[in-house]
Amino acid sequence: MTDVEAVRAQLAQARRVCVLTGAGMSAESGIPTFRDAMSGLWSRFDPAQLASEEGFRADPARVWAWYAERKQGVRDAQPNAGHVALADYGRRRPGVLTIVTQNVDDLHQRAGWPQTVRLHGDILADRWLEACPRGLGCAITHAQPGEPPACADCGNLLRPGVVWFGEMLPEDAIDAAERAARDCDVLLVVGTSGAVWPAAGLARVARRAGAKVVIVNPQASEIDGEAHWLLRGTAAEVLPRVLDEG
Ligand code: NAD
Repeated sequence: MTDVEAVRAQLAQARRVCVLTGAGMSAESGIPTFRDAMSGLWSRFDPAQLASEEGFRADPARVWAWYAERKQGVRDAQPNAGHVALADYGRRRPGVLTIVTQNVDDLHQRAGWPQTVRLHGDILADRWLEACPRGLGCAITHAQPGEPPACADCGNLLRPGVVWFGEMLPEDAIDAAERAARDCDVLLVVGTSGAVWPAAGLARVARRAGAKVVIVNPQASEIDGEAHWLLRGTAAEVLPRVLDEG
């Protein structure tokens, strides 16, 4: 039996399957992974400047512009064959699948899995940097080109709705992710370097609770040691092979 056949058999009989996805899941949709996004034009900035509250406060226009480019990339992207295979599998087997993503794009949702658990927020859902200091609710009445929109009354700024370095993950999302990892028969980890915590710890949680762990990634990741099967390929190639019927 090949590894692909063995994983297909596991997924066909599992009562609960948890899928943890990272930036590599969306790479074939044209959205750069974290490392790619930090290269090229933006290589002179470090992640702490682009993806932290301190960095945003230090230079809101620069951070806003970087996210504006990434938001456009997300709007222009389409789900790939991997996103579609996951959503189709979930629809064929009601009650079996939980998708937990570190991605801030909406490609799992657009592929047909709106209940995806988002650990790191939503890049398309801006929110206010501060609670409204007057308690009345801020309103965008003031937007300079190239600057984040601001509240004309108090100066509060809009910020991207993602979880930045140093920020807490949404409690309901991490609770749901840990529950799904603990309760699953198979954890499928797709396209993550395993370098960002606490998401990276979910593989160990699942393995210790008795699940089979499958990693799909063309390259080595920091959590390969937790895997029962390592499928060295891309999300769009491998997921249809292990999930599709027939
Ligand atoms: P990462 O960039 O650290 O790692 C990406 C991983 O994907 C690597 O291990 C790489 O080998 C693998 N990969 C590359 N192409 C692949 C493919 N076609 N199929 C399968 N795997 C592939 O990303 P990460 O582990 O998700 O962590 C970085 C953080 O950056 C995340 O927390 C996430 O929130 C954020 N991020 C999100 C997006 C997005 O929403 N699409 C994009 C970039 C970064």
